[in-house]
Amino acid sequence: MRYIVNPPAPVSVPVLGTADRFPVHRIYCVGRNYEEHAKEMGFTGREPPFFFLKPADAVVVVNAGETGSMPYPSLTQNLHHEIELVVAIGTGGKNIAAADAHQHIYGYAVGLDMTRRDLQNDMKKQGRPWCIGKAFDQSAPIGPITPAALAGDVNNAEIYVQVNGADRQRSHVSKLIWNVAETIEHLSAAWELLPGDLIYTGTPEGVAAVVRGDTLVGGVTGLGELHLRIA
Ligand code: MN
Repeated sequence: MRYIVNPPAPVSVPVLGTADRFPVHRIYCVGRNYEEHAKEMGFTGREPPFFFLKPADAVVVVNAGETGSMPYPSLTQNLHHEIELVVAIGTGGKNIAAADAHQHIYGYAVGLDMTRRDLQNDMKKQGRPWCIGKAFDQSAPIGPITPAALAGDVNNAEIYVQVNGADRQRSHVSKLIWNVAETIEHLSAAWELLPGDLIYTGTPEGVAAVVRGDTLVGGVTGLGELHLRIA
């Protein structure tokens, strides 16, 4: 058997403190999952969770102790940061009950759901898919994955991002509208989760623009920090 073009290289994320890698299958993202962020986007209340995807090769892997680099993307004048807790699925499943969700989690990471907000808003207004605003190349920076047993109490962690040393977003994972277990229940009712799936769980309030030359430092207590420069 011969591939007619070279198959794409597998996409993977390092596991903190080891030489192991987590292979990425899909990247699921949850929309408007913190109340104050939903409000700043012009929405209120607890609507059922909704999802979008990014391609697996949209990840920008940032190793522990390093500053990653993300190129300022094309077509936008309004690139936004969204700091997010990322869940790494180790055991797949369909129709996973929230009470069983922890059995499917391999670990957690700090991620950024980078967003071409102007393009996303244009698509929203027209009732069109968000892909061009959300699922562009290198739109999913992520730090190393911390295995769940070493991650501490992620569900009560602080989550934050600073830009050039100043706070932009600072909240707590406990403020998720749909917590990690509930998100897995809803998501696995719609798609069969597989080992290697990543779930970006949503962002708190304070999303705002970055420009070339900015340095972002994002973190979730217990998972370390993600350092990223916009090139
Ligand atoms: Mn997001």
